[in-house]
Amino acid sequence: MPAKTFSDGEMVMGRWPGSNLYYEVQVTGYNKSTQLYAVKYKDGTELDLKESDVKPLNYFRMRKAHSRSSSRQRSRSRSRSRSPARTQAPKRSNSRGRETKKPMQKEEVQKEDVPALKFVHQMLQENSTSSKPTSVINYKEAEEENSAKNTYRIVEHKIRKEIVTDQLDLPYNLRTKKQEKNVVELETKDDHLYIKKQAVQTQEREFGGRIGVFFIMFLLPFTVILLLLMCAEDDASIQSFPPPVPTLQMLWSSNALGVFVLWFLFQALLYLLPIGKVVEGVPLANGKKLKYRINAFYAFVLCAAALGAALYNEVNLSYIYSSQLQLAISAILFSVLLSIYLYVRSWRVPADELAEGGNSGSFIYDFFIGRELNPRIRNFDLKFFCELRPGLMGWVVINLGSLFAEMEMQGREAPSLAMILVNSFQLLYVIDALWNETAILTTMDIVHDGFGFMLTFGDLVWVPFVYSLQAFYLVNHPNELSWPVALAIIALNTVGYIIFRGANSQKNAFRRNPHDPKLAHLNIIPTAAGKSLIVSGWWGFVRHPNYLGDLIMALAWSLPCGFNHIIPYFYVIYFTCLLIHREARDERQCRKKYGVAWNKYCQQVRYRIFPYIY
Ligand code: NDP
Repeated sequence: MPAKTFSDGEMVMGRWPGSNLYYEVQVTGYNKSTQLYAVKYKDGTELDLKESDVKPLNYFRMRKAHSRSSSRQRSRSRSRSRSPARTQAPKRSNSRGRETKKPMQKEEVQKEDVPALKFVHQMLQENSTSSKPTSVINYKEAEEENSAKNTYRIVEHKIRKEIVTDQLDLPYNLRTKKQEKNVVELETKDDHLYIKKQAVQTQEREFGGRIGVFFIMFLLPFTVILLLLMCAEDDASIQSFPPPVPTLQMLWSSNALGVFVLWFLFQALLYLLPIGKVVEGVPLANGKKLKYRINAFYAFVLCAAALGAALYNEVNLSYIYSSQLQLAISAILFSVLLSIYLYVRSWRVPADELAEGGNSGSFIYDFFIGRELNPRIRNFDLKFFCELRPGLMGWVVINLGSLFAEMEMQGREAPSLAMILVNSFQLLYVIDALWNETAILTTMDIVHDGFGFMLTFGDLVWVPFVYSLQAFYLVNHPNELSWPVALAIIALNTVGYIIFRGANSQKNAFRRNPHDPKLAHLNIIPTAAGKSLIVSGWWGFVRHPNYLGDLIMALAWSLPCGFNHIIPYFYVIYFTCLLIHREARDERQCRKKYGVAWNKYCQQVRYRIFPYIY
């Protein structure tokens, strides 16, 4: 078997399949059995190339120098090599002033054959020579440069595609490395060009693939039930594990199911109210932008008014505490049914509306991750709705139930300081999320992940019933806090909140409008994908400052429960694992999206979440 000539990571010239166009590409792998090199073009395209189509970076420069010095005469009489890496021969005019052109073979596709492609190349070259040598540049110049480059790239991409599809029978794999693609045609409304849009079939599976997600799907509901059972015990310690087996009555109540369904429908009704502005989400992978009505905060105010009215009419909110397990099981059942519905309907939607990660062909995996990216019933966006409303607002109501239960069970006139802190911190977190509802439109959940069991369960069960564990725990395990300790915890939560909010707002504002004058002080790294990466401010501190702030707050929520048991710290432990895993997922996706630029970012901002630690 021939030895491989190029090494992984090496920059080389790669032939664009079917043409004589060579581009600078990076070798990302080599398949011994097929003897194909995996390469990545600067625009992010990944292909497999034969060795004969890969040349050293200086190959054309050497050939050019050689041909100039050794055979000037020959070069005058023969046609020049048609490599795009070479400078072009000046076109000669015939006696009538028309350009003469040597006939070419059909498969010799040249950039000078296609005037638009030639133009695009010139523009790209001009742009690249004018760009600053430093890797970090002022955001305004970079964004302008980026948008110009992108316009040319879109045109170039289209022309390349036409060349490839129209004229050539390809000898090798034109599929991107990690994905199988079914090609569907659609017209982009913005530029009226026909562009090939591709429905991606997932090849790379997360969470341990089929087997991993199968176990996770059983483990998660079981964990919720176990945590609630343990928290309700007098001795909520690991030593008392496992808790006594619950009776069926403790687990199931049709009333609780009714309450849960009514709550969900009430929230849906509030979502449909024609109040609040309608905004556009960020462009999705298929080029579309969806519209969203932003009225979660108004919905919350209406909920608060409804709760106030209920309390005024002496409705006993401690019912929520005493039925928490039954409510959680109802929510589990509901999320399973919703996931089944989502999976079934995903088979009817156009291919380009499927999520990149949830279309693997494995039922169990796709059911878990979610096949459809943004399922909608008319304008009702199911994922967007579930992300912030029934679960997040439900969490506040559950906490409030615990607050009343604490007063009732401990015979208090007022809630304990610990309970007030937990309720207030988490209320602030929820209000913040609802107030900044638009910020969710740029998150991984909305832009990248499909809507399946993972998110329905997370939104409707995990968030409201696990995140409220501290308040639930305090009902049965009072912890008297002194004011100095309380003030220290408040300070910690405030620091966490400032980092969390500052980082999320900065990125959100930048993604929505990179030209915002308020962000002019930021340094950025432009990327070949068009978007830029912020490399100063919060995002120059660590690579996920928002996760850092979130984790500091998570700790502040657990501390009011004291140090007697580990269960109130379950949230902060789990959340650290979740965000470390999430950061790794995001990192993989960003490296795929931004390639070299992401590596530069990582070199400049060395720590992922915790400065000087991780
Ligand atoms: P982020 O909001 O951190 O978004 C990650 C994306 O931001 C990347 O994919 C990239 O997308 C963009 N990005 C990354 N680095 C930069 C940079 N330097 N400059 C500009 N853009 C950059 O991800 P999440 O959706 O995970 O988190 C959102 C918030 O939700 C966080 O505060 C997190 O803590 C919180 N969260 C809370 C959870 C909970 O259960 N309480 C669970 C999960 C998250 P692109 O370039 O495509 O824009």
